[in-house]
Amino acid sequence: MAYVIALTNQKGGVGKTTTSCALISGLTAKKKKVLGIDLDPQGNLGFSLGIEIEECATIYDAFKGQADLNDIIHKTPYGDVVPSNILLSGAELEFNRPGREFLLKDLLKTVGGKYDYVVIDTPPALNILTVNAYVASDALIIPMVPEILSLLGISQIKETIDSVKKFYNPGLNILGILLTKYNGRLNLAKEVHEMSESIAAQLGTKVFDTKIRSSVSIAEAPAHGESIFEYSPKSNPAIDYTLFVDETLKIIRKSR
Ligand code: ADP
Ligand code: MG
Repeated sequence: MAYVIALTNQKGGVGKTTTSCALISGLTAKKKKVLGIDLDPQGNLGFSLGIEIEECATIYDAFKGQADLNDIIHKTPYGDVVPSNILLSGAELEFNRPGREFLLKDLLKTVGGKYDYVVIDTPPALNILTVNAYVASDALIIPMVPEILSLLGISQIKETIDSVKKFYNPGLNILGILLTKYNGRLNLAKEVHEMSESIAAQLGTKVFDTKIRSSVSIAEAPAHGESIFEYSPKSNPAIDYTLFVDETLKIIRKSR
């Protein structure tokens, strides 16, 4: 079965989607078989990888039992992707049957054997979609922006992770906290480092050695439907995300 990784943080704008794209394309470049799943109704993951998300069937149709997951997978040069769009925002109200936490896990059983890795991009929320991602995952990666205000509010995500571990998925692992939009000079503030280390300790994990530096090129890549490695291979984030993919694989190997 595939090793399933979810990118999560209930805050928006911290690099979940950017990191999902980089992980999907980075693992694909290493000849791994990778499936990306967009669980955010904003649909940014599919869009960023060049899919016309308005027109197509999405993960929402699969959740509703109206499409077979196998039939809604898009092949892209960066890896296979199941897109999402705004219809998924009805999930919280619509998916109210018992067992609703297992919708994604059950769907993945039908395709997991075909892939080495599944990468799930999640919404900026702690809702039923997020819980579905945690239940279906082997591991989480938590991107964070290294600013004091952005680092506050860890108790909510910790509660959600703890209750998913307690009730549904005891084996859920946190691979680490990834600092994104990193500006060495500004962010070197000792407080930021200490605080991210302390958050990691509270969550029983570590801060990735690799930090993802800031660059505008990363904001431009999605408009071209290209990965950062293709759009701007010499940019700081492309260099950093290459190291991040290697570090992720190393941590997974150690944890198994
Ligand atoms: P999330 O999915 O957590 O909401 P995104 O990955 O969409 O966050 O990133 C939010 C915004 O920040 C996007 O416009 C993205 O292009 C930009 N961004 C992400 N990472 C970086 C970075 N390393 N440097 C500069 N801008 C970044
Ligand atoms: Mg996003």
